[in-house]
Amino acid sequence: MENLNKLALRNFQQYLQIPTVHPNVDYAKCVKFLENQAEELQLPIQVIYLKPKKPVVIITWMGAQVELPSIFLNSHMDVVPVFEEQWKYKPFGAEVHEGKIYARGSQDMKSVGIQYLEAIRRLKLNGVICSRTVHVCFVPEEEIGGEEGMKLFTKTEEFKKLNIGIALDESITSENDAMILFYGEKCLWQFDIYCEGQTGHGSLLLDNTPGEKVAYLLQKFYDFRKDQEKNFRENHNSLGDVTTINCTKISGGVQDNVIPNKMLLTFDCRISTKSITLKDFECMINSWIKEAGPHCSISYHAKESGTPNTELNDSNIFWTAFKKATDKMKIKIKTELNCATSDSRYLRKMGIPSFGFSPINNTKKLLHSHNEYLGVDTFLKGIEIYCEIIREIANA
Ligand code: ZN
Repeated sequence: MENLNKLALRNFQQYLQIPTVHPNVDYAKCVKFLENQAEELQLPIQVIYLKPKKPVVIITWMGAQVELPSIFLNSHMDVVPVFEEQWKYKPFGAEVHEGKIYARGSQDMKSVGIQYLEAIRRLKLNGVICSRTVHVCFVPEEEIGGEEGMKLFTKTEEFKKLNIGIALDESITSENDAMILFYGEKCLWQFDIYCEGQTGHGSLLLDNTPGEKVAYLLQKFYDFRKDQEKNFRENHNSLGDVTTINCTKISGGVQDNVIPNKMLLTFDCRISTKSITLKDFECMINSWIKEAGPHCSISYHAKESGTPNTELNDSNIFWTAFKKATDKMKIKIKTELNCATSDSRYLRKMGIPSFGFSPINNTKKLLHSHNEYLGVDTFLKGIEIYCEIIREIANA
């Protein structure tokens, strides 16, 4: 075990040391690294180029009953940029200090990619043969929306051939005992609201000015936001339970003493269907726009339709199997809707059930932050957790 842990840690460090950082990620070294891993594990590997320089890597552990729907263990290879001067240690050094591995990607989510592989290594060494085939998948471009990553991949023949029964993907770091499992996503809507009206001299009290409409709309949006915030704080909800709204841009105007003919508001909304239906949300904002006055209109940049949530009950054999594994290990699981987005949404859109799960608890949430780290113990414990989970779901 000692040697296996050392090997796992070394592999994790090497993976973290490959700077697959945005913008313009170079995945070539990452592919090479994964090819070496597959060779060591004596597992077949496929590298599929969705576009030049946008590889998807799949390492496969064949099951005894290849006709059964497979287990798809996903992680993304890319990481978000760093502000190096703010880091205590080199962000791509993967140095260990006081039992913590410091590196960009240590929580989000290179740890998970390595944990899948190390779990399979251990199961194989123990002579385990599962019924279902397990595909460990490494995708590019998740951090910039997955358009040229998972989204494109789900449209390919190669994807269809995987015949996926259940997918595992990332969740988020938990700062307490319970590990977080995402079974669905909030809906992302981003839009501009144009407020047009009367233009004229800045000294006048004209009717129908864009500024009044902007004021009306901001009041409505922020009253709704206040309610959601109250619900979030008073009921100790997770962000997945409430709808978030933020005005992210305000623009318009030409000169200090001229009332503009047009002003523009941009909003970012993450709708939780636990708080409001998409239809009601849309009706609500349309009525505000109407009330704001004439010549107000909306234009969407993003308007996701609801993706079906993954069932967490006895009807889902993979949930039963997952729960059996985590119960056996006495792991507390908190199930939530994802408050942001992940590649799981593309899978759920295809009708593939997906659990978002990263086995990281009692750890400061440092995804996308400076000095991102993962405890060595937490990393190693995660491998044991995946051994149990994979064994259960791949035999479900
Ligand atoms: Zn991530």
